[in-house]
Amino acid sequence: MGATRIDGNACGAAVEASLAERIATLPTPPHLAVVIVGNDPASHVYVGAKERACARLGIRSTRIDIDADADFSEVVSTVERLNADPEVTGILVQSPLPSGMDEIAITDLIDPVKDVDGFHAQNLGRLVQGDASGILPCTPAGVMRMLEWAGVDLSGKRAVVIGRSRIVGMPQSLLLAQKGADATVTIAHSRTEDMAALCREADVIIAAVGRSNMVVADWVKPGATVIDVGVNRVDDDSEKGYHLSGDVHPDVAEVAGALSPVPGGVGPMTIAMLMSNTVRATEMQQ
Ligand code: NAP
Repeated sequence: MGATRIDGNACGAAVEASLAERIATLPTPPHLAVVIVGNDPASHVYVGAKERACARLGIRSTRIDIDADADFSEVVSTVERLNADPEVTGILVQSPLPSGMDEIAITDLIDPVKDVDGFHAQNLGRLVQGDASGILPCTPAGVMRMLEWAGVDLSGKRAVVIGRSRIVGMPQSLLLAQKGADATVTIAHSRTEDMAALCREADVIIAAVGRSNMVVADWVKPGATVIDVGVNRVDDDSEKGYHLSGDVHPDVAEVAGALSPVPGGVGPMTIAMLMSNTVRATEMQQ
């Protein structure tokens, strides 16, 4: 393997260590409320990881489970109750909501200062205005922290972000292009023509698609930095019946200069940045 491994577990641990000092100076510890609607197994795994991170850092966490067939108004009233509760400093509604429930409507109902996912229009809007000092979406912010931690210089470099979602690709592109980061960014998506040629010109590739092993070695310029955001469940003959795979083919490690693995890359960074947002939200409220 030629590429340096960008270790999200180590970078996430460094983020958590710096948070512990800030938490110690707060008059009351942060309190994260996580709302989970329905029984999506992956969502329950993610929420469990978030609860364990809170426990590690001494952040209070409360989990509210709502039945998948509950009325949408129950989700609305739960968020309104948490908004009004002065003891709750962060609110997260786990995505995806059951089909038919309007995720954006719920996101915009969360008090922006308690919006630890950073998806509220007010928080995303600040980013569009060029202000990255507010609460930022956890996954793209985690990618930026990893790049900084790995010493990747973005200024003037060509970055290709594959994916333009509200929660990863689009905010990722804005963060890479913001003043201070200064990358020249191309946003690619399902209608992009000749993705291979586009990627071959990139100094940095961020893959956030949801297609196992889509980015292959032949697409990558030698020495480029590749960040794999994808998490794909691939069925196999193992005891578990599946394994997790990224959007980046393992052979890319032979060509890239630096590569974040799946698992152990962006995943732990997303959790670390959620903790960071929860601490920041608490500081803003106290
Ligand atoms: P999403 O909302 O489904 O967006 C996927 C994006 O990929 C869309 O913009 C789509 O284009 C684009 N796309 C789909 N097929 C494509 C193709 N063949 N060529 C080029 N672009 C294509 O997904 P997401 O929420 O952004 O998540 C992306 C991946 O990241 C998923 O695997 C998800 O599990 C993972 N993820 C990981 C973390 C973590 O913490 N590790 C966090 C969040 C997400 P269109 O816009 O044209 O449809």
